[in-house]
Amino acid sequence: MPQRTNNPNRKSWIGYNRDTHFPIQNIPFGVFLTRDNVITIGTRIGDYAIDLGALQELGYFSDVPLTDDMFMQDTLNDFISDGKKTWRLVRNRIGDIFDKENPELRDHKEHRERIIFAMDEVEMQLPVMIGDYTDFYSSKEHATNVGTMFRDPDNALLPNWLHMPVAYHGRSSSIVPSGIPIHRPKGQTFPANADEPTFGPSKLVDFELEMAFITTDANNLGHPIPVNEAEDYIFGMVLLNDWSARDIQKWEYVPLGPFLAKNFASSISPWIVTLEALEPFRTEGPKREQPVMKYLDSKGKHSFDINLEVDVTPDNGRPTTVCNSNFKYMYWNISQQLAHHTVNGCRVNSGDLMGSGTISGPTPESYGSMLELSWRGEKPVKLNDGSERKFIEDNDTVTMRGYCHKGDLRIGFGEVSNKLLPVYEGKKK
Ligand code: MN
Repeated sequence: MPQRTNNPNRKSWIGYNRDTHFPIQNIPFGVFLTRDNVITIGTRIGDYAIDLGALQELGYFSDVPLTDDMFMQDTLNDFISDGKKTWRLVRNRIGDIFDKENPELRDHKEHRERIIFAMDEVEMQLPVMIGDYTDFYSSKEHATNVGTMFRDPDNALLPNWLHMPVAYHGRSSSIVPSGIPIHRPKGQTFPANADEPTFGPSKLVDFELEMAFITTDANNLGHPIPVNEAEDYIFGMVLLNDWSARDIQKWEYVPLGPFLAKNFASSISPWIVTLEALEPFRTEGPKREQPVMKYLDSKGKHSFDINLEVDVTPDNGRPTTVCNSNFKYMYWNISQQLAHHTVNGCRVNSGDLMGSGTISGPTPESYGSMLELSWRGEKPVKLNDGSERKFIEDNDTVTMRGYCHKGDLRIGFGEVSNKLLPVYEGKKK
């Protein structure tokens, strides 16, 4: 069954601007709270959220084999579990319903009022119940920059780095959607020139520009996923800000890796853009600098050309774009990441989130963290209002955007935007 959703000439009867991230070719999936306080699964076209639960209830999916309450749920996990064939059937059907030439819903005012909401009437939720969260470290430029700053410029990459996509297990309980403010964490640090460690608010809170992919139930325990089948088990992608406290990280990370420096918050964009929608933007990743082992030898194009931007906005101020990067800079691709993750038989479930690691490009303006942009604080970053940032300050908002474009076709992720609040001081009396 071919997918029909990527036709760049298709138009919708829902109007939108040329530069929207969400044309009828995108058809992402998310979960939102409606103005009537109902949680539902939905999609988005232009600036409108579409209630897929209501569409299903009104019979618009009667030709697609789905369980009766597939979209009347508060997470996408069951839908994702249904697999690639169902994802395609549903996206094809949604594309048809909203096609400019199709009068079914277009000319049914009563149904339209039950199904379509303006984006500012809905509140986006986390799209999936994330069981497990893994964070890779797959940008060579990022790993090189961090190795240069913290260890040894002559041996910036550790010996394993070119042989495997290095990763650690993160914490899913602190993942939040765009819009939810987070608190500056407290913790142990060992300041330079101090004689002993100290406790207090982190002074070096940072963002990490990342993307993440979301899996379906991929395998049974003990069964590796072959690298050239891995994409069949990847539902789609989101933007990820993997908030980090650099001073806590520096003191705690030896020998078992990051812990409290990373698990106080990670934020994601609320719409999952499917791999199918990203198909026109496939590209080759960077050239391999070492031959890879057979289980990591992905054939064909498994990277995607996705423009990425980060803004920092002071309280009541104007945004400054501090970073322009691209997902295609990742040395290890998502197929290699999933193959490596499961090569020992590790089980992967529907709704697992796999972060790329900070995405830095080859030039200084493409570095994906303040740590690199300000080079450990040595080169402060100028904002539009004249102020400077080495790291993120209280009440700053960090906003990440991502989109692909080719000719007139633009497919985007929207944004992940979260404010950093001061340290939590306990409940106000
Ligand atoms: Mn990270």
